[in-house]
Amino acid sequence: MTDYDTVSADVEHEEEIPEDHPRYQDLLTRHRIEKGVEKGITHLQGMHAEGRGSAFDYLLGEATIPSADDAERAAAAHLLLADHPVLSINGNVAALVPSEMVALAEATGADLEINLFNRTPERIEAIADHLREHGAEDVKGLEANARIPNLDHQRAKVDEDGIYDADVVLVPLEDGDRAEALNEMDKTEIVIDLNPLSRSPQVADVPIVDNIIRAVPNMTEHARVLADEDEAVLRSIINEFDREAALEQAEDRIRSGEL
Ligand code: ATP
Repeated sequence: MTDYDTVSADVEHEEEIPEDHPRYQDLLTRHRIEKGVEKGITHLQGMHAEGRGSAFDYLLGEATIPSADDAERAAAAHLLLADHPVLSINGNVAALVPSEMVALAEATGADLEINLFNRTPERIEAIADHLREHGAEDVKGLEANARIPNLDHQRAKVDEDGIYDADVVLVPLEDGDRAEALNEMDKTEIVIDLNPLSRSPQVADVPIVDNIIRAVPNMTEHARVLADEDEAVLRSIINEFDREAALEQAEDRIRSGEL
């Protein structure tokens, strides 16, 4: 028996999870989702989404593969060049990477907007408070005074001066219907999703097949490095990115990667 076998499944604080545990990221992710459910910011269905993601991450080797790093760099370039970039936050995103999303918004000049599949005023408020506790100053998504066309009423709600108006949107862990509807609005859509076969990355302009807990800090790092580059440099990074190749390379790694 290794010491790791003694790590409890329900640690109280994430600091109790040993960083050198071979499944550290998975344990951390699971812990944050559980805390999110307890705090009322994550819906129970978010646990199922997390379970699906965890299986794909295992097959990816729980690492950012080179094509995902390319996608994260292209995504950072898109956000820096945008007139109005918006980062969409759902219950899983808020539970997993609250301060990391605030840092990405600051590095790219993007707005943060809460956008929920299971929308209730209590969850919206709980998520807005949680983001503010992690440094967010302005949180959108509370007004929900505009609609994404071709979606049912609840899931279509967005802010008129937020996602509705955005030219570039980051929609992590997004449901396929909304990803498709946003894409039809002619926005540049960046998706983070561990399943390359899911509809959301399939319709994205920039599909990032990586765990959100690795992807968001890496995008911020790229954005900081690229912040002072000329527009021409950013455009060439965007043009060189090949979305089909990124999806294929992720699928190849999942099907044939050595664990
Ligand atoms: P579709 O996009 O076709 O509707 P789905 O029904 O599987 O697919 P959802 O359950 O709405 O999609 O969203 C969950 C998605 O989020 C899954 O594809 C899962 O792989 C992904 N996911 C879950 N956790 C993470 C994570 N930590 N990082 C990145 N992606 C994740």
